[in-house]
Amino acid sequence: MYRLFFFSVLIMGLLSCYEETTLFDEPESPQTGTYPNVDQNLWSHFANFEKEAAARGFNIELNRLRLNAVISEIAENGVLGQCQYSSQYPNRVTIDKTFWSRSSELYREFVVFHELGHCVLDRDHKEDQDQRGLCLSIMRSGLGDCRDAYNSVNRTYYLNELFENVR
Ligand SMILES: [Zn+2]
Repeated sequence: MYRLFFFSVLIMGLLSCYEETTLFDEPESPQTGTYPNVDQNLWSHFANFEKEAAARGFNIELNRLRLNAVISEIAENGVLGQCQYSSQYPNRVTIDKTFWSRSSELYREFVVFHELGHCVLDRDHKEDQDQRGLCLSIMRSGLGDCRDAYNSVNRTYYLNELFENVR
């Protein structure tokens, strides 16, 4: 699952190309629960991602990965988050600032985990839906016609699905 990524870009909802040129500082020995090069507002979600991964048998230390993450405005309409990666530059997660300021913790988690699904788990989009039209994965693109049902009741199902389908 940690195979080297080739230049490509996956963004939530839309697909486009973007060359990442940001330099970053290599973390030396980051403490557990701290994530150099990651906006501190995202730390709790990163820690929860590690926790949920560990509960499903994946030992993921996000601060050991060449990963950086910011909350900033994304120009494209309707794009809530992006995962940009290349073989030359570190993975970079961007979460849209307007989305962030308006959203619940649960929906923030949804978007952060979706992007980590791309950047860390190497997952692609999955548009499957059930008979009621509910999305069966948080890795849905947003371009399909399924409806999200990420809530406190369904969260466990979605997180199981996220980690069960790692390539
Ligand atoms: Zn996506």
